[in-house]
Amino acid sequence: MNLDAVLLIETVNFAAEKHRNQRRKDEERTPYINHPIGVARILSHEGGVTDIEVLQAALLHDTVEDTDTSLAELEEKFGLTVARIVQEVTDDKSLPKQERKRQQVEHASHCSRQAKLVKLADKLYNLRDLNRSTPLGWTAERVQEYFVWASEVVKGLKGTNSSLEEKLEELFRQRGVHLAT
Ligand code: NDP
Ligand code: ZN
Repeated sequence: MNLDAVLLIETVNFAAEKHRNQRRKDEERTPYINHPIGVARILSHEGGVTDIEVLQAALLHDTVEDTDTSLAELEEKFGLTVARIVQEVTDDKSLPKQERKRQQVEHASHCSRQAKLVKLADKLYNLRDLNRSTPLGWTAERVQEYFVWASEVVKGLKGTNSSLEEKLEELFRQRGVHLAT
């Protein structure tokens, strides 16, 4: 029996149960679970990542921020490393939004390599989503501001995975956003 496969099924099922009633912000109101699954797939399929704990953390990366899931629950079910990676990519919701966004920029370069991988794939997925369809109520300016902010976060994640970084840089280039070195 392939234990990694069993573990990934357990993890994706947990995430699906937690995000059961959530939808993305796109016009079609896509089921939210498509996002964490897509982030994990970017890592495995495009980033060449095979570290099971990184793939699990990708599947779980928005459960603490966006659902009733606690870090203790993740630690109990999936272990300390997976819980720690999710913690590193979770915003502090008690802070105002602008402060949360500022902290992501500030903290990016101090994250572990595993958390940086999840962050890169998360940003790549979200930027592709914005290119595919503008979220309900968003202006073109807001989309552009999101690209600029994402580029500032990605700047702190450099040197982690060249394939994902090149794809992100191409998306920024298309928007006229340049990563300062
Ligand atoms: P939000 O944080 O509100 O939304 C972006 C987040 O939503 C993503 O990071 C992603 O997070 C999630 N998401 C869900 N569905 C989608 C989707 N279809 N496509 C992309 N992301 C999706 O946006 P911001 O507050 O970051 O706004 C972007 C910029 O716009 C900011 O720089 C802010 O200053 C500005 N702004 C402008 C406003 C205006 O009205 N002009 C209002 C508010 C902000 P996850 O991975 O966690 O799902
Ligand atoms: Zn996400």
